Amino acid sequence: MGLIVKKFGGTSVGDLDRIRNVANRIIKTYNAGNKVVVILSAMSGATDSLIHMAEKISPTPDKRELDVLLATGEQTSAALLSITLISMGYPALSLLGHQAEVMTTCAFGDARIVGVGANRIKQLIHAGRIVIVAGFQGCDEEGNITTLGRGGSDTSAVAIAAAINADACEIYTDVDGIYTADPNVCEKARKIGRVDFDEMLEMASLGAKVLQIRSVEIAKKYNIPIHVRSSFNEEEGTMVMDVDSSIESPMVSGVTHNINEARITIKTVPDQPGIASKIFSAIADAGILVDMIIQSSPSNKQNDLSFTVPKKDFNAAMSIGKKVGKKIGATDVLGDSNIAKVSVTGVGMRSHHGVAAKMFTVLAKENINISMISTSEIRISCIIEEKYAELAVRALHTAFGLDKEE
Ligand code: ASP
Ligand code: MG
Repeated sequence: MGLIVKKFGGTSVGDLDRIRNVANRIIKTYNAGNKVVVILSAMSGATDSLIHMAEKISPTPDKRELDVLLATGEQTSAALLSITLISMGYPALSLLGHQAEVMTTCAFGDARIVGVGANRIKQLIHAGRIVIVAGFQGCDEEGNITTLGRGGSDTSAVAIAAAINADACEIYTDVDGIYTADPNVCEKARKIGRVDFDEMLEMASLGAKVLQIRSVEIAKKYNIPIHVRSSFNEEEGTMVMDVDSSIESPMVSGVTHNINEARITIKTVPDQPGIASKIFSAIADAGILVDMIIQSSPSNKQNDLSFTVPKKDFNAAMSIGKKVGKKIGATDVLGDSNIAKVSVTGVGMRSHHGVAAKMFTVLAKENINISMISTSEIRISCIIEEKYAELAVRALHTAFGLDKEE
């Protein structure tokens, strides 16, 4: 017997039959003697169609009012599930974000949770009720309705689980869990049983399709294990948890690729203090996030500087690079948007050496040139030509022993 938080995504509550299916799963857990708190997303497509409607009125709808509108998606699904459970004879009750005291910053459309005062939830579950909370929403200090950014109901679920000190936080979605690589690219990808919080954060490009990554940050902070699993079958999914202390972690847990970055190279900049600061301050002022940076070691008191930015910001970053490059006396500014970042991630790297060498050898065997490298304690990333991304993922997946058994 325990206190279980269950979060269901949009496809899991996509129509009334699916809502009944969700109700049955909840009843099973409740009848086994557990206390259950449920967090819901809007029915699939609901948030998109609300945004679409608002944008028909104005291409830039008022942000406060847009949040009032978007919050209705989750209000609808929460009420429908509650009505379903009550009609089946169960003591359900729905709460909106502010009723569950989900307090946020006032950044409409992308608010951060600052605290959850879950008093009412606690009282209700204590009294035997099944509490359904509308995810994705909260309220700011002034009582305005806010939303947490797309996919935000995962973050609602983990924050509420932390606030009520839940024994488990289960996130039900339309996939079975987290995979060792993108299954669309690597058919030998397999479901990972357990993944460490840090690995999950580093594998954001794999994980973000399944979980809002901010939810993993909260889960890590409060050490709440998340069980990501399918709402359409009973199989165990992936546990996202603290596995640092486990005795044997595989050297590499996953291979990810990202084709949404572009590279900029500023040639022969003077080797003197303040140059990097000038370039990257200008890029930051334009609101552009820089990922990898490499600087060659100086020769003739000059060096080259390369960095990557999101592809969508490539043109803006190029023109900033050219402008600043001219000022600081660079000879040329080059850009390449046909690149991919391929990464291997695993907490096991902390205790194994030779992972980087092995990665480079695998890429070399495939005749793939590496143009940039970056490492963290548990990840190694290489920038390669975009056209080799899928080949690289498959080769690394096999070489690090991740392929599923035939
Ligand atoms: N309904 C919101 C969205 O579509 C939040 C969520 O589903 O988590 O992004
Ligand atoms: Mg989601």
